[in-house]
Amino acid sequence: MQEFGFYFDGTRCTGCKTCMLACKDYYHLPSDLAFRQVYEYELHGSWTQDAAGCWTVDGGVYYVSTSCQHCGNPACIKVCPTGAMHKEDNGAVLVNTERCIGCGYCHLSCPYNAPKVDREAGHSVKCTGCFDRVRAGEAPICVAACPQRALGFGEFSEFSRSEGTVRAIAPLPDEDATDPHLVIRPPRHAAAPDTDAGFVANRDEIV
Ligand code: SF4
Ligand code: SF4
Ligand code: SF4
Repeated sequence: MQEFGFYFDGTRCTGCKTCMLACKDYYHLPSDLAFRQVYEYELHGSWTQDAAGCWTVDGGVYYVSTSCQHCGNPACIKVCPTGAMHKEDNGAVLVNTERCIGCGYCHLSCPYNAPKVDREAGHSVKCTGCFDRVRAGEAPICVAACPQRALGFGEFSEFSRSEGTVRAIAPLPDEDATDPHLVIRPPRHAAAPDTDAGFVANRDEIV
């Protein structure tokens, strides 16, 4: 069976965060939980002064919308002590809430900050890939909500064929870590993963 994945077009994303809010609204998430997040990545850049004394900077900012990548080599599954975190035949990495004890190891292991422990519910929660919608022939709510059509969802191998091979840009980790099912069209000036070319400017918003 083909495994699904996400496509993110960084040349279209304006950082509006509609995707994140649509997901939070659809799943009735409290303010301290999010299945999708949008990073504002600010490049340090450098200042230069021209002959007339005018200063210019070559820095900039771009946005990265990210969720669980339903990885091919999921770190979260390796560390889960109960088998609650598992991979379905279609590639979806999901939490069996009956088995989850809320230890948070999946949260600590995931380089995408995807699973969170819902302390009230007592178990881990994360992006489900909106499979109820997908089974009904609809797109995930984050994909459907994006006004820029910057997100896509479908067969990962198809995205790899049609949209290129980039699977990581800063501030995301290198794809070697977990084999994410994610293909990215990089925005202009995108920095390589695991670089110190810039910083996450909206760190306070990230949960
Ligand atoms: S809704 Fe679309 S344009 Fe807005 S932040 Fe999300 S991916 Fe970017
Ligand atoms: S992004 Fe994190 S939670 Fe999702 S499958 Fe990969 S390691 Fe697991
Ligand atoms: S696929 Fe569904 S659960 Fe996952 S981030 Fe998008 S809206 Fe949220």
